[in-house]
Amino acid sequence: MDIVCSSEELKLFELIGNAAAQLNVSCYLIGGFVRDKILGRPTKDADIVCTGDGIALAHEVARMLPGKPQVNFFKTFGTAQFKLNGFDVEFVGARKESYTSESRKPEVTPGTIADDQLRRDFTINALAISLNKQDYGTLIDPFNGIEDLQNKIIRTPLGPDITFSDDPLRMMRAIRFATQLGFDIIPDVFEAITRNKERIKIVSQERITDELNKIMLADKPSIGLDLLFRSRLLKEFFPQFVDLYGAEFIDGKGHKDNFYHTLQVIDNTAAKSNNLWLRWAALLHDIGKPATKRFEEGHGWTFHGHEVVGERMTPRIFKQLKLPLNEHMKYVAKLVLLHLRPISLTKEDITDSAMRRLLFDAGEEIDDLMILCESDITSKNKVKVKRYLENFEIVKQRLKEVEESDKMRNWQPPITGDQIMQIFNLPPSREVGILKTTIREAILDGIIPNDYDAAYKLLLQKAGELNLNPV
Ligand code: ATP
Ligand code: MG
Repeated sequence: MDIVCSSEELKLFELIGNAAAQLNVSCYLIGGFVRDKILGRPTKDADIVCTGDGIALAHEVARMLPGKPQVNFFKTFGTAQFKLNGFDVEFVGARKESYTSESRKPEVTPGTIADDQLRRDFTINALAISLNKQDYGTLIDPFNGIEDLQNKIIRTPLGPDITFSDDPLRMMRAIRFATQLGFDIIPDVFEAITRNKERIKIVSQERITDELNKIMLADKPSIGLDLLFRSRLLKEFFPQFVDLYGAEFIDGKGHKDNFYHTLQVIDNTAAKSNNLWLRWAALLHDIGKPATKRFEEGHGWTFHGHEVVGERMTPRIFKQLKLPLNEHMKYVAKLVLLHLRPISLTKEDITDSAMRRLLFDAGEEIDDLMILCESDITSKNKVKVKRYLENFEIVKQRLKEVEESDKMRNWQPPITGDQIMQIFNLPPSREVGILKTTIREAILDGIIPNDYDAAYKLLLQKAGELNLNPV
């Protein structure tokens, strides 16, 4: 097995081996770095484990390095870390862990490298490489991790029920690695996730969501989302998402399964954009469907207003999942609300003013909205998909033309609310709102041109109707 390291990495590892020899301890590269090097994936950090004091080793290494990087350390955890040209190096003393059932926090005592490997979550994450003189470069693989890497398998060193019960976050990690690496979780381990799913409750939501976001950022998020669903882990922390599952039939008429439709939309979005929040908008775009589902006689299934309900559900879900309650949340809610708009423009004879209105409402988000909307075109019927996509191209083209001629992006009406207040000496009030809306609507509808004079004329006319005079 070949591992390719840069000359900087090799120099650093040799130096770490020398520093460890001086302190009379053994040290090893371990975990994600070894795994990713063997897989030929890029690495940006390395974990070093030593039989002894990890913090002392980190300081010794830093002292011997030309740049003398600053060491950050955490006495309580016995860990230390420094950065070297953007590369993150972490040190920890080898440890033995024993768990109690009440919390994720184990009892930790110093241990051997074998003890330390035994506490690792998966066989592919327990691989170590010696940095010691006597066996420098030797791979230490007590659980056949190499074989599992070759066979693309996720397996636990201990019995999976013990592994997951000890630290339930590992259930999320198993699914996350399966998604990122395209590996299979062996049936025994997968079944243990289902058995231990309720234990996820002792893990903080932030850590669960961290893993969920890593799944969302993978090339094909549906792999992990489907595993979360089938293991029933998803329902434990995100029941609203699971509510999308299933297709109901009445009088032989069914609707599509909105869970698997959503997974398809997320993958379609992921193929076009790395933006995590756009992917979240894809996840949530139909979240309002279960609440709005109706069967209408002679018509079939409808989900009227699901985009409005979805927009309203977004802040609650962000709060529940401890996602940031900031502009990212507003962005997602906005895209959920608008997700039907572009496709609605493919239907009838669409006026330029409808195009302008969409450009105005979407603002900065128009390109992302178009990606979401195009990704939403899914059907088993290939002919249908092709026709929709063709119509969608026409809308895209027309939007572009309207945008170019009207410069609608980030458009603001030529007279602002502040100006209206000044012109009529008004406090912030209902009247100001009416006057502002009148101007905006008239321009969007193409009734008056988009310039100050036309807007001022209309403003005076409408103000007259409200018995207001300029001062
Ligand atoms: P990535 O950096 O891509 O998330 P990684 O495998 O390096 O992957 P880290 O969270 O950085 O993951 O952890 C480094 C190593 O620490 C892992 O490879 C694994 O050996 C061990 N580890 C991390 N979290 C756990 C855990 N919850 N239980 C057991 N071992 C863990
Ligand atoms: Mg790592």
